[in-house]
Amino acid sequence: MPEEYSNYLQNLNERQREAACTDISTPLMIVAGPGSGKTSTMVGRVLMLLNEGISPLNILAMTFTTAAASEMRERIGAIAGKATAKELTISTFHSFSLQLCRSHAEKIGRTSEFLIYGQGQQRNAVIEAIRLLENGKNRSKDGASLVGEESKGVLTPKQFKDKAKKWQKFVTQAKASGRTSADYCELGNEIGAEILVHYNSILKSCNALDYHDLISCSVKLLTDFPEVFRECQDSWKAIVIDEFQDTSTMQYKLLRILASHHKITIVGDDDQSIFSFNGADVSGFMSFRKDFPNYKEIRLNKNYRSTRCIVEAASSLIRNNAKRCQMKNVLTDNSSGSKIVVKECNNEDAQCAFVADKIIEISSSHSETTCSFGNIAILYRRQISGKAFQIAFRDRKIPFNIHGVAFYRKKVVRTIIAMLRTALPVCDDSSYIRVFKALLQFEKDQKKRVIDHINKISTIRKCSFILAASDIFSAKISGTFKRSELTHGRKVLTTLEMISKLVLREKSISAIITSVADLIPEKYLLEKRASVDVDGGTLLNEDYDIRSVRQYLLDDVSEFLSTKFLEIKEKREISEDKGCSFMLKAFLDFLFERETENFRARRKDNENSVTLTTIHQAKGLEWDVVFIVKVNESEIPLLHDYKGIIKETGALVEEERRLLYVAMTRARQKLFILHVMMDSNWQMLQPSRFLREIPNHLLEVQGEMNIQVQLKQEAVQKENAKLNANELLKEQQFEEEVVPMPNDLLNSHITESSNELAEFEEANNGNTFLRRFNVED
Ligand code: ATP
Ligand code: MG
Repeated sequence: MPEEYSNYLQNLNERQREAACTDISTPLMIVAGPGSGKTSTMVGRVLMLLNEGISPLNILAMTFTTAAASEMRERIGAIAGKATAKELTISTFHSFSLQLCRSHAEKIGRTSEFLIYGQGQQRNAVIEAIRLLENGKNRSKDGASLVGEESKGVLTPKQFKDKAKKWQKFVTQAKASGRTSADYCELGNEIGAEILVHYNSILKSCNALDYHDLISCSVKLLTDFPEVFRECQDSWKAIVIDEFQDTSTMQYKLLRILASHHKITIVGDDDQSIFSFNGADVSGFMSFRKDFPNYKEIRLNKNYRSTRCIVEAASSLIRNNAKRCQMKNVLTDNSSGSKIVVKECNNEDAQCAFVADKIIEISSSHSETTCSFGNIAILYRRQISGKAFQIAFRDRKIPFNIHGVAFYRKKVVRTIIAMLRTALPVCDDSSYIRVFKALLQFEKDQKKRVIDHINKISTIRKCSFILAASDIFSAKISGTFKRSELTHGRKVLTTLEMISKLVLREKSISAIITSVADLIPEKYLLEKRASVDVDGGTLLNEDYDIRSVRQYLLDDVSEFLSTKFLEIKEKREISEDKGCSFMLKAFLDFLFERETENFRARRKDNENSVTLTTIHQAKGLEWDVVFIVKVNESEIPLLHDYKGIIKETGALVEEERRLLYVAMTRARQKLFILHVMMDSNWQMLQPSRFLREIPNHLLEVQGEMNIQVQLKQEAVQKENAKLNANELLKEQQFEEEVVPMPNDLLNSHITESSNELAEFEEANNGNTFLRRFNVED
């Protein structure tokens, strides 16, 4: 064994080493708590596989994010050499499935150019499916659809939107669980079955697959096509999977087929399962035991990451979960460390100020425990909570990074991506519509009228949006457009042509992105800057500066070229000079992963800046100092849906508890847990119930003196500005004695909040497959 390998294995503890060195033909399951070295052991396991003569080209490692994948590649590269590390396939489920589906697209009824539908496009397809369903039932001669009915007052736009959202959830749930329209027919849900049929045929006719289709089509390819199965068997002689607890039923199905040779290692912790809304299912551990009966299970129980205080506090918390697959007793030899600070703040501003002051204090060289910005993280339940910190940090010149999935949800970024997409041989309507919205330089209403009209013509003529647009603007068909509208429309078409030419002419994706970004009109950028809040935005206004957006994208291009593209190149024997169109397609696939996965802040960004991230995105990572903020009822646990209806179930509370558990166990040295007393709508908030589950002796509770009285005074003043001074005093005294009912407050807060849905979607990391509702119709 090479010296580097044995050194690495020597540094593992006995159990970790036993796991890494288990006979490679034995299916291996490593179950252990946070910080116990699961990922480190997985690296050891890959070294063992290499040492046993398995070619790196034949090893498939599944991680949860592309960032985790590059991290693992780096770690293995440092020991086994960069060349070997490059040959490994370290992938996410989606990127793996995407490649498989691309290679065998015709077998699943697509061409290799197929499009991947993200949330927005999926929503449009669902709307179309509803239209088809409604038209089928009550078809009118002129092809008037639900949109028409909407304007005639049958459904208000809001009702229509809600309906579309509800069905989108339904479709997503159906796909995640692998249910077909026939299953829904059997269950008596005929409308559901029909929607699903329409939805699938729309995607098929658009040559598209959605996020869940990628997994289910891969399963189909492996089960229905023996040659694909054989090809995969030849390619993947050993498989390792990190964060197994977040594997969905369909993903597990895929793994089981791929690993029919039994050279499989799974690594996970059921206590850290936090993606059930995304279809993750911890019953995968049970299935593994059943499907690989000669498996070996190894438990690691020593935490190397955190102080004893943090380990004990987190263990006490998670012990309250009744439904745990495997009880784990996590211990540590680390020092006890300082107590966990639980800080009560008046409101979110005070919370930000506290965190910012603390960061300045601990990062200063005078501090006893000097800690660089890069070793500090702020974790929150919902993306939206990050915004106030960005402002506070910017004001105090604290460098931070918040480069995550939110970036790809920004309208400007989506517009650039849509513009790039239009240059591919196949492009969907929604990308064209987005580009028209960006490039047409009219006021909003006029723009909407023009786009609606093109849409109407495309529906009547049953042609694509772009075909309708080019016919209209080249005056092949008459329309009701003003001359100026025709002129502008033509300009958009010319720009689209320019983009196509750029792709043919330019030699690199970087050059294409730079040129395309420059085509976006200033007016549109300014508009987007002003509407940052509407988007539930998490980036500061300044980030709409086209230069920084462009730079972020270019950073991703270089990452793509250095890792992903090489990987694709190895597999498909393509060369860089095969043309930019191919590269562009591969790059857009890469970005798709970024959009769909819970992308982590990248290490490069982390080096000297504070990380701002949701707890979901913090999975598997660690920092010296962690602040978990707004640990209130209504945040953790977040038990209401976007309409504000509380859906408290035992399972949900347990998942929320696991979320806090994951958050707490990210800290190495020092943990701060903050909660606020009042939100921005003057609603009183309660501290999270979970805080009561942490033993007092591990906590240092810091309150706000007399502030409750002050805050209530302010609230009362605001609402009762006309009351005289005496009445006001009486009111305050009365209020002081009243203990607010959290649920009532919660309800009133939520129903009043117009941004709730956006926030709720953000909270779920952009996934609209919301866990809490059963679709009824
Ligand atoms: P999570 O559940 O959060 O993903 P994990 O179990 O994957 O955690 P790792 O990230 O592998 O844990 O390791 C946690 C920390 O402990 C890392 O900093 C790692 O370097 C360190 N560590 C792991 N094993 C050992 C060991 N045997 N000796 C010293 N340090 C170790
Ligand atoms: Mg890990």
